[in-house]
Amino acid sequence: MTDMPALPQGNGCRDVPVLKQRGQHEVFCGLTGIIWLHRKMQDAFFLVVGSRTCAHLLQSAAGVMIFAEPRFGTAILEEKDLAGLADANEELDREVERLLSRRSDIKQLFLVGSCPSEVIKLDLERAAERLSEKYFGKTQVLNYSGSGIETTFTQGEDACLASIVPAMPKTTERQLLVVGALPDVVEDQALKLLGDLGIETVRVLPSRTADEIAGVGPNTVFALTQPFLGDAAGALERRGARHIAAPFPFGEEGTTAWLAAIAREFGVDQDLFETVTAAPRARARKAIARSHEVLQNKRIFFFPDSQLEVPLARFLTRECGMEAVEVGTPFLHKGLVGPDLEMLATGPQISEGQDVDQQLDRAIAAQPDLTVCGLGLANPLEARGLTTKWAIELVFTPVHFYEQAGDLAELFTRPLRRRAMLAEHPSHINGPEISSGEREGAKRPSLGALA
Ligand code: SF4
Repeated sequence: MTDMPALPQGNGCRDVPVLKQRGQHEVFCGLTGIIWLHRKMQDAFFLVVGSRTCAHLLQSAAGVMIFAEPRFGTAILEEKDLAGLADANEELDREVERLLSRRSDIKQLFLVGSCPSEVIKLDLERAAERLSEKYFGKTQVLNYSGSGIETTFTQGEDACLASIVPAMPKTTERQLLVVGALPDVVEDQALKLLGDLGIETVRVLPSRTADEIAGVGPNTVFALTQPFLGDAAGALERRGARHIAAPFPFGEEGTTAWLAAIAREFGVDQDLFETVTAAPRARARKAIARSHEVLQNKRIFFFPDSQLEVPLARFLTRECGMEAVEVGTPFLHKGLVGPDLEMLATGPQISEGQDVDQQLDRAIAAQPDLTVCGLGLANPLEARGLTTKWAIELVFTPVHFYEQAGDLAELFTRPLRRRAMLAEHPSHINGPEISSGEREGAKRPSLGALA
């Protein structure tokens, strides 16, 4: 087993100076979230109101099979819509009518805004209200923005979940709400652990079907499974629910701390906690240890992208022996990642936002062993000799809780192993410049199949 380093003295990185930058930044838009949300919510349909670019993004990212009945689509705004020559609302109503008349399985319809719909100021909130009334009792119509203007790709899920909260029924029941769209198998593992701890009423957001939607009220406490759900958390608090602050459930230590915070809230006996968690903790530590040799003492640099950067830096430094050089994140929400920051020893530069040229200069000067970044930066960095990891893979791959802890560590070893192999056999470098993600991606199913 790997011994965990002691907790840092004081508040770790919680109160260290943060480098805040606002300049040109490289991001991916929130429509991306539809790829994993549509698989999670089995009777929902995501109708993007956007351009052909939006449609292409979704089609290519999700790899839709030709015979499948997809549960997302794009109502394409044509030039006459963009020029204000046609009533986009009328056309939208017609598209929704056409869709719902042939798809009675759709119980929740999300109208998803995009850059073009926002530019022409198409009011999708009003449209959702109008259509909800029209299809009352059959299909609930909600709306959120997946626009790429000033957002990161994980904000799509946050906006989607926040849009569901006002539609949740009121309840006064004492309950735990687990918030975040996890793969079903991972969600089931978490629910089993919580059930074994004796926590009786546990609900999830988002639910798998509209019928299973949770209630919310003053006796609801909620735990987030993803650090990018700030808007959803705010919406739940406005409905009277209370957030259980905790490190995020990545790795053995993070999962134990997450469960312990919930256990304290529900007065779970310490002996029961030890009994329930002992075996999976041991399994997780053993699985992580398999990657230790590769990751130990390697220096890692995070560009801001997925908003998972702070909890992952905590996991990789404390449980895998890595050294963080810079931990960049698009937004630093201390109300959510504060507990992870406290467990992260001082040393790395914590940065929020981006001025991409300056950050590239810092990364190249630092020469980290591994750089976690968005798709657009991977190739240029690889061309400069840096080894990269696509941040987006961390959202498409099951990485939460004990049973996935080994896989999470393993994800970071692959580019390092590949680099070491290429150093041993330099003749393999010949050929076009391909990023680490693309090389790894050749062995993987499409992103959609992983969601
Ligand atoms: S960035 Fe904007 S225009 Fe491009 S795909 Fe995303 S929503 Fe559509």
